[in-house]
Amino acid sequence: MNSPFLFAGRDLSELVALSGQSPAYVYERASVDLNIAAIRKALPENVLLHYSLKANPMPQLVSHIATQCDGLDVTSQKEMITALGASKSASAISFSGPGKNDTELLAALTAGITIHVESQGELQRIEQLANRAGVTPRISMRINPNFSIRQSGMVMGGGPQPFGIDEEQAADVLATIFSYGFRCEGLHCYVGSQILSADIIIEAQARILDMMSRLLTEAQLADERSVFNIGGGFGIPYFENDRELDICAVGDALATKLESIQQAHNSIRVAVETGRYIVGNAGIYIARVTDRKYSRGKVYLVVNGGLNHHLAATGNLGQVIRRNYPIRNWTAHDNQEHETVSVVGPLCTPLDVLGSDIKMQRLEVGDYIAVLQSGAYGFSASPHEFLGHQAPVELLL
Ligand SMILES: *Cc1c(COP(=O)(O)O)cnc(C)c1O
Repeated sequence: MNSPFLFAGRDLSELVALSGQSPAYVYERASVDLNIAAIRKALPENVLLHYSLKANPMPQLVSHIATQCDGLDVTSQKEMITALGASKSASAISFSGPGKNDTELLAALTAGITIHVESQGELQRIEQLANRAGVTPRISMRINPNFSIRQSGMVMGGGPQPFGIDEEQAADVLATIFSYGFRCEGLHCYVGSQILSADIIIEAQARILDMMSRLLTEAQLADERSVFNIGGGFGIPYFENDRELDICAVGDALATKLESIQQAHNSIRVAVETGRYIVGNAGIYIARVTDRKYSRGKVYLVVNGGLNHHLAATGNLGQVIRRNYPIRNWTAHDNQEHETVSVVGPLCTPLDVLGSDIKMQRLEVGDYIAVLQSGAYGFSASPHEFLGHQAPVELLL
């Protein structure tokens, strides 16, 4: 007999009962806690840990994470409001992203949130808004380095970028910051996401720290309050043959690197920021089988949600070649044979595929499937309005 798939100690029918419906996203606090503990244990003790709301901005989840992290990174007014509700201290919140508008900047200035400046134009608007509001801004500078990381995932640094200030322009922008009479509270660099190779992260962190150290020496901006945010990019395994990131190797290398950097700059503090690594495996997406259909030798399981709820699992959020996320079935049927099926959503588009040619125990109409590794870039990264089906609910256990 196959035991049913359990998540947060419940089988899928219990999770659906708790959600009151399917489709649903279910997140588990205990997994989040384990992930944070694993990062903390791996990283040097004095390194600050920030959570990026972009990965999963569910307010209750963010509040839970905030108690265990040193900072929250936001990229919009809505995320800012969530972070303010979750965090004891506005100064532990930082705001990045290209195209921050005046309303958002004024909110950040008023709250005392640290703004990661990403262009000269943005800096000028900050100065005007701060003057008008009569506040002193907390500014950090996001740098677009003159290198990019070697591989995979999404690359967000090197070459021309909408993100951050080119390394070559950093000295000029710093001079502008000082000419306004502001401090620069730190430097920020984020070069990629979903990296599974420890070697690549180690190399990126070393190069980022060297670059920041060089800028510090040139600009003499370091003091005991400066924070070097060296990004994250920590990946999690989604697909067959993906291997877990060796986060301990990353932490050990960072410890060694920091010892040498801190000989020159003993007062700086280093932060890493991550979203996916904290929440990615702490969530699942549940959908219900609406139809079983045969077409020219193939079995299709049509479930009641797809790319409208979980764009990433259908391969439409930046995947070059579509690969299957891990999918599990819940079964109360004993002795059912396995079969090869394609799991598709209800949308009238060939893009709506959750799993192609996967082997699972036979499911009937009314049974449930769960897509694992769905805690990051799931609910909030999907076009719920597309085709007008019911939206999923979110549940935190
Ligand atoms: C997207 C993003 C993150 C989070 O990336 P993860 O892969 O979820 O860890 C962090 N910082 C910045 C600046 C980002 O753009």
